[in-house]
Amino acid sequence: MTPHPGVAHPVTTGEALVDTFHRVHDNLRISVTDRCNIRCFYCMPEDGVQFQPRQEILSFEEITRFVRIAADLGITKLRLTGGEPLVRKDLPQLVEMLARLPGIRDIALTTNAVLLKEMAGPLRRAGLHRLNIHLDTLCPTKFQQITRRDEFARVMEGIDAAQTEGFPVKLNAVAVKGLVEDDIAPLARFGRERGIEVRYIEFMPLDAQGIWDRNGVLSASAMLEILSREVGPLEEIPHRDLRAPATEYRFLDGVGTVGFIASVTRPFCLNCNRIRLTADGHLRYCLFAIEETDVKRLLRGGACDADIADTVRDTVRRKWIGHEINSANFVPPPRPMYAIGG
Ligand code: SAM
Ligand code: SF4
Repeated sequence: MTPHPGVAHPVTTGEALVDTFHRVHDNLRISVTDRCNIRCFYCMPEDGVQFQPRQEILSFEEITRFVRIAADLGITKLRLTGGEPLVRKDLPQLVEMLARLPGIRDIALTTNAVLLKEMAGPLRRAGLHRLNIHLDTLCPTKFQQITRRDEFARVMEGIDAAQTEGFPVKLNAVAVKGLVEDDIAPLARFGRERGIEVRYIEFMPLDAQGIWDRNGVLSASAMLEILSREVGPLEEIPHRDLRAPATEYRFLDGVGTVGFIASVTRPFCLNCNRIRLTADGHLRYCLFAIEETDVKRLLRGGACDADIADTVRDTVRRKWIGHEINSANFVPPPRPMYAIGG
């Protein structure tokens, strides 16, 4: 076993990442930065955001070493996220390093697409497989109201570039009640025209300013009703992968699908297969977890691969059965979405 990044190692851990509820973990979400070039109100404050000092952020070598160890424990799927991952300098280089690791079969990226026009080609060539693009509205004024930035045109160019490069694309739309009801159907129509699945995400209590309130959640069932009334009837697609977070529906006319990530009204914790690495090197077993494991300390402190592998297994073993958004005991995680990695 070797503590050196990038060096082949003989560790065959055998044991998969299984928690005490028999959930097998093969999916790692990696936040590459907590910075962002826009300021969605349900994620970040408008001003004065406290970002991690650069030296606290994991280097590409540290991330790659961690993923190599995690791949040996059965991680096969990666998603790069943030903050906004495309503001991390030289991101395609990281994608290339990760794509070379044995066992990694799928690398996806979640982005606001502001910088995607320039980055889509380099990311494709580096080995990125899929893109999820965050867009809540097709109205430029509403976009600015939500993100506090005038970047709608660049996002649309980013979507064009992603499709031109041949990426499979999905759209992520955060659904805040009283704000986006009029945007639900136009987004679905856009998706149907462009061959893109729109995934509507219920507003979650992960904002930096504690503005979340149950009354602000536009539920998946309310959105389904809007879509069937304004676009056309839908039917649920029987789940091919029960561990996928979205419940998917297809339009009965055969044109297009939509998905719902209903973390609040239909939690999917029992099928969860995900762990998360924050940009500053902390491992989390849940988006809503209160506790974290500091793996940066190990990565920078001379720990060998086997010690890090043990720490990952241990973190997974401590995983809870699920978040408690719907219970009186719910405590929001100490970090907001942009600092965890959505
Ligand atoms: N900046 C990238 C983006 O916006 O896609 C990646 C990071 S962002 C934190 C990841 C996803 O989190 C976004 O696609 C957005 O849909 C979602 N998100 C952010 N805040 C949220 C909230 N309070 N509730 C539900 N989803 C949220
Ligand atoms: Fe930035 Fe993504 Fe958070 Fe919006 S949701 S502020 S794009 S990190």
